[in-house]
Amino acid sequence: MTDLTQLSITEALAQLRAKTISAVDLTRAYLTRIEQLEPAISAYITVTSERALKDAEAADKARAAGDERPLLGIPMAIKDVLSTTGVETTCGSKILRGYVPVYSATVIQRLEAAGMVMLGKANMDEFAMGSSTENSAFQITHNPWDTERVPGGSSGGSAAAVAARMAAGALGTDTGGSVRTPAGFCGIVGLKPSYGRVSRYGLVAFGSSLDCIGPMARTVEDAARLLQVIAGHDRLDSTSMDIAVPDYLAVLNGGVKGLRIGVPREYFIEGIQPESQAAVQAAIRQLESLGAEIIDISLPHTDYSLPVYYIIAPAEASANLARYDGIRFGPKIDKKEMWDTYRATRGQGFGPEVKRRIMLGTYALSAGYYDAYYGKAQQVRTLIKQDFEKAFEKVDVIAAPVTPRTAFKIGENINDPLQMYLEDVFTLPASLAGVPGLSLPCGHDNAGLPIGLQLIGRAFSEDVLLRAAHAYEQSTEWHKALPAL
Ligand code: GLN
Repeated sequence: MTDLTQLSITEALAQLRAKTISAVDLTRAYLTRIEQLEPAISAYITVTSERALKDAEAADKARAAGDERPLLGIPMAIKDVLSTTGVETTCGSKILRGYVPVYSATVIQRLEAAGMVMLGKANMDEFAMGSSTENSAFQITHNPWDTERVPGGSSGGSAAAVAARMAAGALGTDTGGSVRTPAGFCGIVGLKPSYGRVSRYGLVAFGSSLDCIGPMARTVEDAARLLQVIAGHDRLDSTSMDIAVPDYLAVLNGGVKGLRIGVPREYFIEGIQPESQAAVQAAIRQLESLGAEIIDISLPHTDYSLPVYYIIAPAEASANLARYDGIRFGPKIDKKEMWDTYRATRGQGFGPEVKRRIMLGTYALSAGYYDAYYGKAQQVRTLIKQDFEKAFEKVDVIAAPVTPRTAFKIGENINDPLQMYLEDVFTLPASLAGVPGLSLPCGHDNAGLPIGLQLIGRAFSEDVLLRAAHAYEQSTEWHKALPAL
């Protein structure tokens, strides 16, 4: 029998429907693969084997009775920032060790209603703060393409699991690049939807005006299938938009003929790894040869995205993380005085990057500094958003690199926060503007590491991004490359 973990979600569904394989076979294959590779990759914080097999059995029974739900029997990894009933949800932090939610995030409920089998909870940077997954309080995840390198972050566990075929697909979250960067570093597809497209109910909050939940998969079609299930209004999240969700699979084969693709000059600058730049430029030419019109554009406030993001995100985080004081969630360090309990719990529970963000954010929001930092950052954020609005008067999609370079070595950036923040320059603008961004494989560098192409679209134009990405993917072979494990 062929190795079932090689199948994309689309291929696995076809075989499940034809009953040539069962959900139990498929789930077993993934659990075996996890057992073999987890020592080298460390993609998961928690593996839920028993539950997965039970759910797979139920999926097979349901299918035998005629059930054809869209993800029936598909094994997935879920970033540990998403609440899952009965399964520990740590957010990569010691402060949430032992926290078992009594409800599931809306996206989990929707995936389960669609028949997903959850394999486990994926590793991540603590509270999703980071670009390498090295900030996890528990373990370092290794890039399946080169285990001495990071998988990107903060959804590094999800990306590594999908790339190493330790999951058919995954969910990640993207506040400033955390779906797109690890997708790029691991050679898979990652989609950060528009702000408001997917409900965040049950997502542990980091930067509430930025956080988005998105699919990670091996093909664009797989990503479309996952987005289809999780997208749409939810009355439990007041920021989720009540607008129609297109049929993403129906539009996938529309091609790019006549599509206007903008190439922002601010994303093609000195200091970018030459191979990455060349691969992205070749991808743009490929889209042109498929019928797209390529147009030079400018997003003049791009340079401000980094300082703006690193004020707004920590400011919001400092407010969101105030609730972790040992009283309601996770372990508590008991002291005589209440304040000492808070201090000890937070002091030991949070890691260094989280503390840095809380301090930066609290400072930026404090009386006397609010106007100079937070208020000013919000004003510049509007300028960044307007850059995109102006660009989208002339083009339908923007094509750019995902990151300035491919996956870096474990340990290389971890003691230099500014260098780590610089890895985010190309993903932050779309996050600040609230528009969707998709990362897909478009090449390999000289060391054989995957290079990502980023496509950015108008708010709620995920259908256009998926269509363009699918056209590119179907005309190239990059998505078929597998890490040698
Ligand atoms: N790397 C960015 C940060 O550290 C983005 C993280 C994210 O998207 N969750 O904040």
